[in-house]
Amino acid sequence: MEVIRAIKEMQNRANLWRRENFIIGFVPTMGYLHEGHLSLVRMAKRRADKVVVSIFVNPLQFGPKEDYEVYPRDPEKDLSLLEREQVEVVFMPGAKEMYPQGYQTYVEVSNLTQGLCGAFRPGHFKGVTTVVLKLFNIVKPHFAVFGEKDYQQLKVIQRMVNDLNLEIEIVAAPTIRDWDGLALSSRNTYLSQEERRSALALYQSLKLAERLILGGERRAERIRELMQEYIKKFPHNRVQYIEIVNPETLERVDLIKENVLIALAVYVGKTRLIDNKLIRVEG
Ligand code: AMP
Repeated sequence: MEVIRAIKEMQNRANLWRRENFIIGFVPTMGYLHEGHLSLVRMAKRRADKVVVSIFVNPLQFGPKEDYEVYPRDPEKDLSLLEREQVEVVFMPGAKEMYPQGYQTYVEVSNLTQGLCGAFRPGHFKGVTTVVLKLFNIVKPHFAVFGEKDYQQLKVIQRMVNDLNLEIEIVAAPTIRDWDGLALSSRNTYLSQEERRSALALYQSLKLAERLILGGERRAERIRELMQEYIKKFPHNRVQYIEIVNPETLERVDLIKENVLIALAVYVGKTRLIDNKLIRVEG
């Protein structure tokens, strides 16, 4: 496994591979890797000849009051995990390499980024699409794997790829959870033991919503209320949003008639966690 830090070197390597007709699979990450990330890597390994994983904590996608500075980092451990997965290249650029002095170009997907996390994290998705497009131009993958854990991000990237005619397949990977249902996240490391117990309310409230819908409840407002009530019963929890949306357009649904995505963001103490679940509904 090779670690590449320079953009030009990564591009040269990708060009070489492409000349030899290797299929390049790509998994972008911000590091502090867990089994969720590794499941994406394994998915990429199954379909690619050469797998590139990037580790880059992208300053552009963090708000001024967010956790860029303190975002957990452990490059040594990440590299040893990726070595075990037999990844070909880990691309680890520095922030100055990606955004040198004078940088001023951005990519923005408009409608899909308005709701859900976009409503509370202005500029976040602009930061995500910009860095992902840059990474695509550097790594030159045939396909890239993204987790459904960040469902809105997945949809926004799919939209960008379609709208800009990028010849890259976007592969979606299911959310990997801890034994009790908590979605794995690098930010779970911020949680105290008691907060960890409260954090389970995200997943449990999604299961509650699923039971309600399967039991015939069709009023989104009612479901959101009951989810909110459930989550608030635990200490430290503060709901930022609970939304029931169309899984493709991410537009709010009032009366549930077909498949819906339920997505939520909750502060557990100072830690903001997100989760979501696709609920299948017979028409
Ligand atoms: P991050 O390092 O948080 O930017 O995540 C990198 C990639 O891993 C994104 O495509 C995420 O959606 C994905 N990911 C993060 N957590 C999980 C998880 N628990 N299960 C599956 N994929 C995940």
